[in-house]
Amino acid sequence: MAGGLRDAGHEVSLADQHVKACSLEVIVSETVSAHPELILLMHSDYNRKLEESILERVAAALATALPDVPLWGFGRLDREHAVAAAEAIPSLHGLLFDEPEFPAVALATLLEAGESTDSLPGAVQQLGEELSVVEPERVDMDRTPIPAWDLAHPSHYGFSPHQQGEDTVFPVLASRGCPFPCFYCEVRVRPPWRTRSVDAVLEELSTLQARYGMRSVFLADPTFAIQKDWAMEFCRRVQSEGPRGLRWSCMSRTDRVDPELT
Ligand code: SF4
Repeated sequence: MAGGLRDAGHEVSLADQHVKACSLEVIVSETVSAHPELILLMHSDYNRKLEESILERVAAALATALPDVPLWGFGRLDREHAVAAAEAIPSLHGLLFDEPEFPAVALATLLEAGESTDSLPGAVQQLGEELSVVEPERVDMDRTPIPAWDLAHPSHYGFSPHQQGEDTVFPVLASRGCPFPCFYCEVRVRPPWRTRSVDAVLEELSTLQARYGMRSVFLADPTFAIQKDWAMEFCRRVQSEGPRGLRWSCMSRTDRVDPELT
């Protein structure tokens, strides 16, 4: 989200309350002193009900402190869960869903130009008494922005020991979502499985190495190797075209892995 907005020419400040371990009062006062023209609150759906009650407290405090600043939420949610989240967090002006970094750039552009956001795709918003939903546009996942890791260093977000190297491990998403229907998994309530091309992922790896000196990567896809052809092509090309000395790991279902792939 931050990377996409910055690529579009916007200045972005990021406050991760968990990393900073700060109170609501500190979050609000830091936000006020940043003089924002738009505030975006991230909705994580790992613990949906708890998340929404926390976000509503944060949103209500920010709306009171900065009543004239547009306050939006965003999350990689499907339509049903986006509507439920918008209803649970009434202090928000709207909520971006599906692949929210794409409509976020459009939202910032509309607000900057003083234009209406009523028809913004991929948005749930309160219009008068009604909750309006505009379906998301089809997005080109190869245009996924490179994350702004200088704003939130990946060392703050640790992985399991077997995924961790001696140096900083950068998470990269080659795909999002998962097509499997495991009833216990939160991934299935998200938007559908979408993948990037091998070219796009290799380009992100090269950019991460050039910008941040990255040497280790965790492919944080919920399930790697859903398409064996894709996985085989990636494994072949990352050796010949990827950053030299790259260490990478991934997570997959065991039934997606066979002797040829290993
Ligand atoms: S395969 Fe894994 S990521 Fe996919 S739905 Fe099942 S548990 Fe979730």
